[in-house]
Amino acid sequence: MHVMVLGAGITGVTTAWYLRQAGFDVSVIDRQAEAGQETSFANGGQISVSHPEPWANPSTPFLALRWLGRHDAPLRFRPQASLSQWRWALSFLHECLPWRALHNTEAIAALAVHSQRELQRVRVAAGIEDAYDARQQGILHLFFGATEFRHVPARAGLLRRLGIETTVCTPAECVAIEPALATMAPTLAGGLHAPGDETGDAMHFTRALAAVLARDGVRFHYGTTIERIALAGTSVDGIEVRDSHGRKGTLTADAYVVCLGSFSPLMVRPLGERLPIYPVKGYSITAPVADPARAPQVSLTDESRRIVCSRLGDRLRIAGTAELNGYNQNIDPARGRGILEWAEKHLPGAIDPAQAQLWAGLRPATPSNLPIIGKSRCGKLWFNTGHGTLGWTLACGSADLVTGMIEGRQTVVQFPVREAG
Ligand SMILES: Cc1cc2nc3c(=O)[nH]c(=O)nc-3n(C[C@H](O)[C@H](O)[C@H](O)COP(=O)(O)OP(=O)(O)OC[C@H]3O[C@@H](n4cnc5c(N)ncnc54)[C@H](O)[C@@H]3O)c2cc1C
Repeated sequence: MHVMVLGAGITGVTTAWYLRQAGFDVSVIDRQAEAGQETSFANGGQISVSHPEPWANPSTPFLALRWLGRHDAPLRFRPQASLSQWRWALSFLHECLPWRALHNTEAIAALAVHSQRELQRVRVAAGIEDAYDARQQGILHLFFGATEFRHVPARAGLLRRLGIETTVCTPAECVAIEPALATMAPTLAGGLHAPGDETGDAMHFTRALAAVLARDGVRFHYGTTIERIALAGTSVDGIEVRDSHGRKGTLTADAYVVCLGSFSPLMVRPLGERLPIYPVKGYSITAPVADPARAPQVSLTDESRRIVCSRLGDRLRIAGTAELNGYNQNIDPARGRGILEWAEKHLPGAIDPAQAQLWAGLRPATPSNLPIIGKSRCGKLWFNTGHGTLGWTLACGSADLVTGMIEGRQTVVQFPVREAG
C-alpha cells in the first residue's frame, strides 16, 4: 500500500518514518527544496514534556487584557475581518475554562511522555543521535514574580500525577543547576526544574531523518506545490501539484496524510473539512555563543515573558512571542529586538548579538493546543497536523499514533484522536 505524506516539516517526516517502519511504500510532497524549511526551521528547540499546559488556560484572558496595546506583549491579537480568526479566538476562550484546560493538559502530557520515548527510539534506530545538537540536560522554568511562583508547587504536583518529574527550586538552587543564571538570580522568584526534558535542532533532525528515509526508498517530491486535493465522490482521487518549472500534474496513492502545518485548513476546506487551525506567529533569534561560560547548557523557559532559550552546539536559540495576524509572514524587527534585549539583560555576554539571525514562523495552532490526529470525512485521507506550540515535542508520538490508526493497530496512548468526520 502506497501512503503519500503531504508536507515535509517535522510532522510529515516523522510520519513518513513510522509509515516506512510499518512496511508501507511512502512518498512525501513539499513545496520547499528540502525538509524542515517552514515552521520547523528555527523553533525554540525544546522537547518540553514538562510544559503540557496549553496557552488556553484560566489565567490567559486576564494576562491578554494586561498586555493589550503593549508592543512587546508575549501574546498579541491583531483583529482582522476574518471569520476564521474570530471563530478561533472564541473557541480559544472556551478552552480557557478550568475543566477544558485540565482535560487538554492531561491529553498533551500523555502524548508528550509517549513522544519523548519514541524520539529516543527513533534517533537510535535512524542513527541520527549526533545530527541535531541534541542535549539531555533538562529544562528550567523561571518565574520572576512571587505571585506566579506561589502556584508552582501545585503545578509540580499535577505534573507528578501525569508522570512528569519536576523539582521546585529557590533562586540559589536554580544557579546551582545552571551557573549561567548568576546574573539574573537576584530578580528570580524561583524555578521549576524538569531534568528529563531535552533539546535539539528540529530542522537538523528533520533533514537528517529525511535523508535516512530517502536512502531507504521513500520518494521525496521537493519543489512541488500542492494546489488541490482532488475528490472522486467522497474519496480522495489524487493530489494536483505544480513543480518549480510551473508544470502541473496529479500524484496518486492509496492513502494520504495531511501534515501541512498552518496551511492544512486551507487545503482541506474545499473538501468540506473545517480544521480549527489558525497561524500564530512566533519569532526566534539564533546567535553564536560568545562566552561558553555565560551561555546556559540547561534549556530555559521564562514563564513571565513566554521566552525559551536552548543551547544548540555552539549556538544559542532564543524564541518566543505569539501574534494572531493571519498568514502574514513579515518579520517585525521590533520583535527581534525584544528577544535580543531579553538575552542581553538576563544572559549578558553569552552571545554575539551582531551575528544574531532573526526568524519568524507560523505555529499551526488549535484553540486547545491538541493536534488533530486521525481520519478525515473523505475516504483515504488522514490528518496529523495542528501541533501549535509543541510540534517538536509531540512529533514522534503523533506520527506513531496516526500510523497505528492507518495500520489498524491498537495504540497505547490515551489521546482523543479523530475517529471520523
Ligand atoms: C517561535 C517558535 C518557537 C517554537 N518552539 C518550539 C519548541 O521549543 N518546542 C516545540 O515542541 N515546538 C515549538 N514550536 C512549534 C513547532 O515548531 C511547530 O509545531 C512545528 O514546527 C510544526 O511542524 P509541522 O511539520 O506541522 O509544520 P511545518 O514545519 O510548517 O511543515 C509543513 C510543511 O508543509 C509544506 N507545505 C505547506 N503548504 C504546502 C503546499 N501547498 N504544497 C506543498 N507543501 C506545502 C511546507 O513547506 C512545510 O514544509 C515553536 C514554533 C515557533 C514558531
